[in-house]
Amino acid sequence: MVEKQHKVWFSRALKNWHLVENNRMMPWKGIKDPYKIWLSEVILQQTRVEQGLAYYNRFVESYPDVHTLANASDNQVFKLWEGLGYYSRCRNLIKTARTISMEHAGLFPASKEGLLTLSGVGNYTAAAIGSFAFGLPLAVVDGNVLRVLSRVFGISTPIDLPEGRKALEQLAEQLLDIKNPALYNQAIMDLGATVCKPRQPICGACPFRQKCLALAQGKTEQLPVKSKKIKQRERFFYYLILESKGKQLVRQRKGKDIWQDLFEFILKETDEPVEEKELKSWSFWNLGAKKEKIEVVSISGEMVHQLTHQKIRCRMAYLRSSALVKVDGYHWTDISSIKQLAFPRLITRYQTSIR
Ligand code: SF4
Repeated sequence: MVEKQHKVWFSRALKNWHLVENNRMMPWKGIKDPYKIWLSEVILQQTRVEQGLAYYNRFVESYPDVHTLANASDNQVFKLWEGLGYYSRCRNLIKTARTISMEHAGLFPASKEGLLTLSGVGNYTAAAIGSFAFGLPLAVVDGNVLRVLSRVFGISTPIDLPEGRKALEQLAEQLLDIKNPALYNQAIMDLGATVCKPRQPICGACPFRQKCLALAQGKTEQLPVKSKKIKQRERFFYYLILESKGKQLVRQRKGKDIWQDLFEFILKETDEPVEEKELKSWSFWNLGAKKEKIEVVSISGEMVHQLTHQKIRCRMAYLRSSALVKVDGYHWTDISSIKQLAFPRLITRYQTSIR
């Protein structure tokens, strides 16, 4: 249990710092509109603020309220999301917009329990919407908050284990300024993002520097502790862009793998790297079609696409065929229509590079 004087000291130091130092003005800060707060929180998960800002602005411009977002087609929303990654967020965004629009008359629930019933809304997002939009006394606990608390209070229990996470969540709740949860939450997240950074924290500019245990004990780089290293899976993707008569073969990805619902060209995944001459041969693609007159337009170099748990090593073969050969699962689509479809960032990077 945090003693009362600690709590007062912590929240006062944070508030004063925020009033004087905070200059990270963003369009979603200080607002009370739950739709825009929710939108910003979904976009900013696993995303840098600089990148998320452009997407946030585009979404607000295209869909100024939850009803316009709910009425958009899946593909329109995916297209706007294209390049942001973590596409399950986008699927949840669509689902929740439709739930709010159709089942809640456009109004977000004003309670933690109600918010937690929405797709893609966990404790963190519920606390953010609840405190920022409705002034509920809920402490946000994201990576920034975990880092600040574990350093200031010198907590070395791993934050990726249930007991470490729980201890820090309880501490966050005890420290929360319940009279002004929105300001407190914004301040601690900003401090973690701009001062108490993962590497080389700027302790000289920190309001907690006099009392921070990690600083006093020279442990700023060791805290917070994580028990596990993220395991990386390496995958080899070879895409065939097959073009004929102004059309290309595409399909929509289904199943539980990455990039669900996005579009892609003919994919062959292998266990190891494949030589360029293989990629030029029709037999490599093994499409069950007769060999038509094939012209090799280009074969790309290797592109590496890093996801949280996967490293995708990919090459693109661009071939032209004299006939619209049939390939199971793929559809010949006009090139002009393909531009309207949402593709994984790996593919759009390649498309941009050959334009
Ligand atoms: S003193 Fe340094 S390590 Fe401690 S909370 Fe501040 S920035 Fe983080």
